[in-house]
Amino acid sequence: MDRVALVTGSSRGIGRAVARRLARDGYAVCINYLTCRDKAEELVAELTGAGCAAMAVQADVADRAAVNDMVRRVEETFGGVTLLVNNAGIAGQALFQDVTDEMWERYFAVNLNGARHTIQAVLPHMLHEKAGCIINTSSIWGQHGASCEVTYSCTKHALIGLTRSLAMELAPSHIRVNCVAPGVIDTDMVQVLGQETLRALAQQTPLGRLGTPEDIAAAVAFLASEQASFITGQVLTADGGFISV
Ligand code: NAD
Repeated sequence: MDRVALVTGSSRGIGRAVARRLARDGYAVCINYLTCRDKAEELVAELTGAGCAAMAVQADVADRAAVNDMVRRVEETFGGVTLLVNNAGIAGQALFQDVTDEMWERYFAVNLNGARHTIQAVLPHMLHEKAGCIINTSSIWGQHGASCEVTYSCTKHALIGLTRSLAMELAPSHIRVNCVAPGVIDTDMVQVLGQETLRALAQQTPLGRLGTPEDIAAAVAFLASEQASFITGQVLTADGGFISV
């Protein structure tokens, strides 16, 4: 396949919308999931039913060996990954003094090392082809501080550093590295905040609503597209103006 996209954590939420959008845009899509095999396979059935190429691949992105094995399976089925979307992530709230070593390490293992593992696994093919596109998923909390989300915010700041530095390093190989920074997006991840808080957050958003997974999928699709062929090392914030206006 000419265009092969691997989207981590794509059985639900933003990742699922990204996978759907990329399939519609003509990519063979690899849907990585951690535990929700049923949902991943449901999405594969939906996409293949619509005439798209798709496969589901299990891996904990925090586990380097599992990621390497996942990428090997993808390469055997569709060929090398040409577009990597690092979407898998975990979030949660805690006062900083209550953050345990386990929590800190798991957040970094998934949100940051997960991206390192997938990038290092797909890079040999991209470097060989002297082409490729990598899109990381940061957050507005990777651009601004977030009270009670210090750990999450640190991982998302780090992803921006990874994006900018790697973009410099890989530009001579014609591999673009960019980042999306979603605002508050209506997915399972934010339901813990409760409906009242979500309503208040929508009101605080200049565009007057929460984001949808499809809003972020559109930003990813743009960064992946030919229209963005001169764009690398950038952070595209999609937050309805929440922090950016
Ligand atoms: P979500 O919780 O619905 O989805 C996260 C996905 O990541 C799930 O499918 C989950 O199974 C997967 N995942 C978690 N740990 C994994 C692991 N170790 N290996 C593989 N997959 C794993 O949340 P979402 O809102 O769709 O979030 C997607 C991304 O967007 C995350 O990186 C998140 O930090 C980021 N983000 C979300 C928001 C928001 O408001 N929802 C805002 C900014 C950034």
